[in-house]
Amino acid sequence: MRSTNAPREIHVALVGMSGSGKSAVAVKYITKRFIGEYDSTLEDTYCRQETVGGQCMMVWLMDTVENAARDEMRWIAWADVYVVVYDVTSQLSFQYAEGLLERIARHEHVLCPREHRTILLGNKMDLDRYRQVSEQEGERVAAQHKAYFAECSAATDFRQFTQTLHSTFQNIISGARSPSPRQCSSDSE
Ligand code: GDP
Ligand code: MG
Repeated sequence: MRSTNAPREIHVALVGMSGSGKSAVAVKYITKRFIGEYDSTLEDTYCRQETVGGQCMMVWLMDTVENAARDEMRWIAWADVYVVVYDVTSQLSFQYAEGLLERIARHEHVLCPREHRTILLGNKMDLDRYRQVSEQEGERVAAQHKAYFAECSAATDFRQFTQTLHSTFQNIISGARSPSPRQCSSDSE
C-alpha cells in the first residue's frame, strides 16, 4: 500500500490591504486563538502540520505586509495558494483585493505548471452591522476571477475559511484543476 506519511509541503500567501486582518487570520490558523493587536509592519512565515484527506501536509503560511506588493513576485512565485483578504466593513479593502486578484491573474503564466489556487476571503464578519461589502458582492467578484469565496471572522467564526482552504489542499493533492480550468500557455506547446 502506498504510504501517505511523507508530509507534502504547501505554501499559502495571505495578501490584502493593511488592516484587513491578515495577521489575525494567520495567528488564528496557527494557534486557534484571536489576538487583537499586531505590529502592522511585521511580515512572517508560520508553519503548521495538518492532515487533509489522509495526506499529511506541512503548511507554510506567509503573512505579508501591504508594501510587499512592490515585491509581489516574491510571494506570487512562492505560493501554491493565495488567500486574498479584505475587511467586509471596508469597501476600500475590497477594491484593493480586486486589484490583487487581477495582479495574480496577470502572473498566472509564471506559475504554470505549478498547482495553485486562490481564495477571496471576507474577514471580520462578526462586525456585520458595519458591513460595506455584501456576501453576494464577494461571491460575484470571486467568480469573476475563478477564485473560491469564503467569509470568516478571525475573532469568532473561522470554519468557512479552514473548510475552503482544505478544499484547495485537496485539489492540489488530487492534481485536479481549479473550479474553472485555467490554461497554461505551455499546455499547447
Ligand atoms: P493586517 O494589517 O491585515 O495584518 O491586519 P491585522 O491582523 O493587524 O488586523 C487589523 C485590526 O483588525 C486589528 O485591530 C485586529 O484586532 C482587527 N481584526 C482582525 N480580524 C478581525 C476580525 O475578524 N474581527 C474583528 N472584530 N476585528 C478583527
Ligand atoms: Mg499584519
